[in-house]
Amino acid sequence: MSARGRLLPPISPKDSALPSDTPSDALPITVRHVTKTYGRVHALDDVSLDVKSGEFLTLLGPSGSGKTTLLMVLAGFTRPDSGSLKFGETEVIRTPPHLRDVGMTFQSYALFPHMTVAGNVGYPLRLRKVAKDEIARRVERALETVQLGGFGERRINQLSGGQRQRVAVARAIVFEPRILLMDEPLSALDKKLRDQMQIELRQLHEKLGMTTVYVTHDQREALTMSDRIAVVNKGRIMQLATPRDLYERPANRFVADFIGDSTFLPVTRQGDTISFAGQPLVHTAPAPDSAELALMIRPERIVLGGGTEGANRFDAHVSEVVYQGDSYLMYARLKDGSQIALRGAMRGAGDLPEQGANVTLTLAPEDTILIDGGEG
Ligand code: ADP
Ligand code: MG
Repeated sequence: MSARGRLLPPISPKDSALPSDTPSDALPITVRHVTKTYGRVHALDDVSLDVKSGEFLTLLGPSGSGKTTLLMVLAGFTRPDSGSLKFGETEVIRTPPHLRDVGMTFQSYALFPHMTVAGNVGYPLRLRKVAKDEIARRVERALETVQLGGFGERRINQLSGGQRQRVAVARAIVFEPRILLMDEPLSALDKKLRDQMQIELRQLHEKLGMTTVYVTHDQREALTMSDRIAVVNKGRIMQLATPRDLYERPANRFVADFIGDSTFLPVTRQGDTISFAGQPLVHTAPAPDSAELALMIRPERIVLGGGTEGANRFDAHVSEVVYQGDSYLMYARLKDGSQIALRGAMRGAGDLPEQGANVTLTLAPEDTILIDGGEG
């Protein structure tokens, strides 16, 4: 990667413990066997992870899964019990935070309420002993980048939630770090503003090109923003993949359950044949080699009606239909008693079947996903 995105020349090399021969390059991150325990809690349990240079990678997981702990390890605020961490070729596990070339926004904005916007944004530069006029220039550039040009003299408590969030981002990027870490930056905002900021942060990343690790517990936000997503549960990475692979080829039941909606149905295996309710299934993707196997069905992938040749067909009767404006949601019961959720577009749907009606459901072979039915 070239000087893409650099707003200004880098701050003097002594401000970073990292080699400065290629200061404008984004850096890859290599995490190996990182463990962190708090008493009996395994906040991080043998985590290994590669973040590519310039990538936007999201840590996605439920509350308490270890996302913040991992980000704090990357930033240098938490020292793990064991493991290694490299930025580029350099081991940084013992490097203090201000020498790591890392910008960070915290789960609470952690702005200084008594300072002005410019005071907050310039803080990392004062910490790095940058000259006063240079600070002023860089602060204004960073504020312009987050669309807050001219806001420098405002006080933090005069700003809206979205503006405070932008100040936090400006403070994280003001010294042009090669790595940017963001911990649930949008969770305090209402939905409209959150949707807008997701796109803004994504565009900012494209412009600046720094390696970014982003934390959220919101699966849709992760799908919207990320090059790749690492799904975290109980201090472990359950799967690392592109949004599409994660959604369409989840590695286990936890991932399939956490991202999107799905129904899981028990299947049986006899040699190469996998059957559901006594009916052999046609599937394009191979089934995992696990003892507990389940058929995963996404509501929008199952089709009401005859469907295409060679698809899997199931007879069912309708137990519930709900009209939802753009789409309908239907629950159908199969012969063996199991219930499937099905979602279809209202456009072109015509009359919806009544409760109790007999219907045929079809599932294309490429949408017939067999996964490890255990909790992974
Ligand atoms: P997340 O950000 O995914 O919600 P955290 O990384 O904050 O999760 O926490 C992971 C686990 O570690 C939780 O069980 C949490 O209670 C515990 N934990 C985190 N920080 C501390 C701490 N400083 N002291 C004790 N327990 C902690
Ligand atoms: Mg957290």
